[in-house]
Amino acid sequence: MALLEIVKYPAPVLLTVGKPVENFDDELKNLVADMFETMYEAGGVGLAAPQVNLSKRLFVMDCSGGEDEAQKIAVVNSEIIYVEGEQNGDEGCLSFPGIYQKIKRNLRAIVRGQDVSGNPLELDGTELTARCVLHETDHCDGIVFLDRMTVLKREFAKRKIKQLQKTGKWE
Ligand SMILES: [Zn+2]
Repeated sequence: MALLEIVKYPAPVLLTVGKPVENFDDELKNLVADMFETMYEAGGVGLAAPQVNLSKRLFVMDCSGGEDEAQKIAVVNSEIIYVEGEQNGDEGCLSFPGIYQKIKRNLRAIVRGQDVSGNPLELDGTELTARCVLHETDHCDGIVFLDRMTVLKREFAKRKIKQLQKTGKWE
């Protein structure tokens, strides 16, 4: 296994729609293992392929932070098929280090996709799990959490990113 480099905003790959995964081979399994390792090392609860510079529809997540094996999930070709309710809470992103903002998301989300072997997978989650699958599926669609902020919060976040870039703390 190997740690992968996490790309930061505004890397073009983060703003590009990911291509569907077609080959469920050892290469995919190795990539998913590396993505889990990279996510745990970085202290995140989710990591999508575009964040490691691969324009693919694929993400890994673990809302338990490594505490509960059942929550260690990889979703390939994810698609949100149902949402309901609303929650408003702090959100961060490994491609935006140091940026945290309140983001409105659905309270519940059902995601459909495939596991690393290509078997159909469906996940019905609420609260942090819903927030995570919505955030990571957005990455697969070339959408970053900045796009989900209110105009004021987005401007504030962009200013902070510029400051961090100037002081060399963003690269
Ligand atoms: Zn993210």
